[in-house]
Amino acid sequence: MDYQALIEDVLSDVHAYRGTGKVASYIPVLAQADPHKFGMAIALEDGSTFVAGDGEEAFTIQSLSYVFSLALALHHVKSALWNHVGREPAGSPVNSIIQLEIEKGKPRNPLTSSGALVVCDQLIGRRGREEACAELLEFLRTRSGASDIGIDESIAMSESRAGAFNRSLAHFVAAFGNLSNPPEEVLSLYYRQCSVAMSCRQLAQAGLFLAFDGVDPVKGEVVCTPSRARRINALMLTSGHYDNSGDFAFRVGLPGKSAVSGAILAIVPRVGVVSVWSPGLNDAGTSLVGAVALERLVERTGWSIFV
Ligand code: GLN
Repeated sequence: MDYQALIEDVLSDVHAYRGTGKVASYIPVLAQADPHKFGMAIALEDGSTFVAGDGEEAFTIQSLSYVFSLALALHHVKSALWNHVGREPAGSPVNSIIQLEIEKGKPRNPLTSSGALVVCDQLIGRRGREEACAELLEFLRTRSGASDIGIDESIAMSESRAGAFNRSLAHFVAAFGNLSNPPEEVLSLYYRQCSVAMSCRQLAQAGLFLAFDGVDPVKGEVVCTPSRARRINALMLTSGHYDNSGDFAFRVGLPGKSAVSGAILAIVPRVGVVSVWSPGLNDAGTSLVGAVALERLVERTGWSIFV
């Protein structure tokens, strides 16, 4: 298959949609994003990558980070993580607090904001947030092969200042005894992981281990066990797009994760990883153009896991 031609074709498929959707405004710095931007990248088993549009431009990965910190937290605490967070779809907006009260501070799954906060807490463990943050950065650098990946501190700061929702979630979870570190420590790691800046190409490379049973096919390194990779993919399929996860599975049919910056990471088991970025969001907070692009890509390739 001519993959470069493929993503160029998808780029023209979505042309008419560019600029549609609403850029997130609750994080002031994100509100400045240009909704016309659109980037896409594919990374394959042999390490080759194909990039279109603004696919080399860095943006903050926001809740795509949840997937990587989940992989790391599972590495550290293993199945004990599931004492603190569930694995059922939430069917509610990313930062919903309602279910948390009913379910006594145990977030539905690690791909909601409250779930990601609990994962951050477990990742910090007893060693402090700086060390946990350094580990996550190092992980992303190694996985993507880009040693200059860093944190956009202005976005982390902007988010922290506008962070009443996440602060409420962290304190609420803590009130139920489900955080072992002070909420502000946990929030600090959380904002920083959301503010890691990466391009579509780097993200596609970083996710490759999830497409190949936990093994980085390029370096031949075991990143996690096959069953852990399979389970992270299962969570992405059922809960990766907030209350829009069912629609994404219906339209695209791939394990994926959406983020408020307009990024989407999609895993094509045994084939590779696709990442897209376009800041205009649909009503549920998934990139509007990004989801259309993945839908067209899957139509053109037959890559849905449901065949
Ligand atoms: N940093 C964002 C927040 O907590 C991440 C949310 C998202 O990408 N959906 O609000």
